[in-house]
Amino acid sequence: MDLPGVHEELEHAIATWEGEQVLTRFDEASGSWIFICIHSRRLGPAAGGTRMKVYGSPLEALRDGLRLAAGMTSKFAVAGLPFGGGKAVLAVPSLPHGDERARLLGVYAEAIESLGGTFWTGCDMNTTPADLDVIAETSGYVFGRSVESGGSGEPGPHTARGVLYGIRAALAHVFGSPELSGRTVLVQGVGSVGSRLAGLLAEAGARVLVTDLRTEHAAELAARVGAESVAPEHALETPCDVYAPCATGGTLSEETIPVLRCRIVAGSANNQLATLEDADRLREHGILYAPDFVTNAGGALYNAGSEALGWDEERIEHALRGIGDTLAEIFVRSEADGVSTGRAAEALALRRLAAAP
Ligand code: NAD
Repeated sequence: MDLPGVHEELEHAIATWEGEQVLTRFDEASGSWIFICIHSRRLGPAAGGTRMKVYGSPLEALRDGLRLAAGMTSKFAVAGLPFGGGKAVLAVPSLPHGDERARLLGVYAEAIESLGGTFWTGCDMNTTPADLDVIAETSGYVFGRSVESGGSGEPGPHTARGVLYGIRAALAHVFGSPELSGRTVLVQGVGSVGSRLAGLLAEAGARVLVTDLRTEHAAELAARVGAESVAPEHALETPCDVYAPCATGGTLSEETIPVLRCRIVAGSANNQLATLEDADRLREHGILYAPDFVTNAGGALYNAGSEALGWDEERIEHALRGIGDTLAEIFVRSEADGVSTGRAAEALALRRLAAAP
């Protein structure tokens, strides 16, 4: 590896970022890079999940962390939680298992601990409550340890509950009623969040379409909850009232938006818009977009609320319901100001940050 070249690229990415701090560590034993990105502590200590992934380069991993950390600042600001934005990325040559995974998580946990509470973390892509249990042996700045270890566990089911409130708010705005019966919702990606969302939607009386690259898994879920499965390559063009992206980001772009046959986009995936201009495009196409960082805050509200803020079940439910209320406010603001919902949500986050003491 051409380390001097790599360092220059990384330095440039950090120097041109508007965030506060990046802790960088190279773990020689595994060839993994660790980036802890602290975007803002204006509202409280930075918090955000730990993503473990095989990236094309250290720069790609760092950029992912920087972008995701900035998104967390907006997410917490809009959700009204006393945390700032952060994110950690473990860029591994291949996903480690067993002792090697525990060793790497230990090295990462030392890095978290060295920040002295400036950064708190939870699960993200390819990390689980069991990994957080390992991290917690070295550092206590962790949300979402396994329930067996006294933590609040997997966030996915609670993210799904929040998305359901978001979908209801969007239906109310477009059709005048939050009712799900008679509505068709396409859930793209039926993993931790999407599988739970599909079940909740079916229970609420919606016609549910599910799609996943793991087609057998989607078919099995469809049979279990009374949904229909759709081939992943035909998902975007499938007619529905609500398209709920719960897989990867970037599915809303200049190329895909003209293909959509839905009235609403509301799902859990992070960074659904390829660019902020795509929120404008959705508006031009008459599609109501529920901004992702508002809609998918349920898991963060649950993990941080129950572990750091001492919330009981009733308070958590109130916070999840608030996702729908916040979206309703954003929809009205967007119309009043003649801007996309994406821009209205960004403006709300900035107002909340500016109002902080
Ligand atoms: P997951 O990995 O458990 O599930 C994702 C599913 O999407 C998998 O079943 C995968 O096969 C499928 N998939 C991937 N690419 C696809 C494609 N192109 N078409 C169809 N299916 C595809 O992830 P998750 O925890 O359920 O999270 C889903 C999304 O929501 C992610 O973008 C995540 O960042 C975001 N998110 C999750 C949470 C949470 O609480 N888990 C919170 C906030 C945001």
